[in-house]
Amino acid sequence: MAEPYRGRLAPSPTGAQHLGNARTYLIAWLRARSLGGHLALRLEDIDSPRVKPGAAEQAYEDLRWLGLDWESSPVVQTQRLPLYQQALAQLQARELVYPCTCTRSDVERAASAPHESERARPDPAAMHEPPTYPGTCASRRVADAEALIRPFCWRFRVPAHASTFSDGFAGPITVDLCQQGGDFVVWKTVGTPAYQLAVVVDDAAMGITEVVRGDDLIPSTPRQLLLYDALGLHTPAFVHVPLVVGPDGRRLAKRHGDTRLSTLREAGVSAEAIVGLLAWSCGWLDAIQPVSARELLPRFRLESIPRQPFILTPRLLRQIGYEVSA
Ligand code: GLU
Ligand code: ZN
Repeated sequence: MAEPYRGRLAPSPTGAQHLGNARTYLIAWLRARSLGGHLALRLEDIDSPRVKPGAAEQAYEDLRWLGLDWESSPVVQTQRLPLYQQALAQLQARELVYPCTCTRSDVERAASAPHESERARPDPAAMHEPPTYPGTCASRRVADAEALIRPFCWRFRVPAHASTFSDGFAGPITVDLCQQGGDFVVWKTVGTPAYQLAVVVDDAAMGITEVVRGDDLIPSTPRQLLLYDALGLHTPAFVHVPLVVGPDGRRLAKRHGDTRLSTLREAGVSAEAIVGLLAWSCGWLDAIQPVSARELLPRFRLESIPRQPFILTPRLLRQIGYEVSA
């Protein structure tokens, strides 16, 4: 018997939610609801320096306004530090991680030195990926940490071979972590868990059966799969959906004008108008027209979402009654 579906919405309170986030949340919500599943909300606030005050409440409000609901109270990462610490200790006990004293600029300098093998690689910055770690500290053992004077982070050793996983939307994906990113950080120098570790511990603890998120996170998935394996945790399925981009093809951001949900709302745009635009972009409506998230349930199909990113133009925004100003 198939296990009951458990999905999640995982906003980062690092700024207001915009149309790009909204599209992914809408897809995740429809996926869970159309399967009669459970949907949890997790606040990814562990990246503390970037967290803006009030952004958590704003994120909840934005989601509710869109008509996206969730079960039980939000899971808040900053309240779960002991769980992440336990996971780190497990990785340490098995020598799967090592202390790294390299600074960000050490890694960037090493990574920008021209290597023949690096030429044809996609630009990591474009994927929001860190530069490939050259393995400077990889010969250290866990116990070496005690004698270190400089601040250090903990890195997970990646295997020397490429790994493949099957994505529920994007199909089979192969990533060679040695070439892309190298040994990755699981615990930051400032003493908090990195996204990769926190998300795995949480998704497992919350019993998540399927992760629906933006495809900018595809390179993170093989890392997370390694952590599930190393921690002996049950692996969810993954569905990575294309992002919203601006007319220049770059991921939706401030440079494309203000597309924050709160701004659109204040400008008098209704949630139904936004949901309608997003639904049209996903192939569930033939024309842009107001619709509620719930009304979309019978029309929802993962397969009809275009494989390409959704290009949001000022003209489309005008169609929902919003004049974008940069
Ligand atoms: N918090 C992340 C974001 O807002 C999502 C991470 C995830 O879904 O694993 O982009
Ligand atoms: Zn190092």
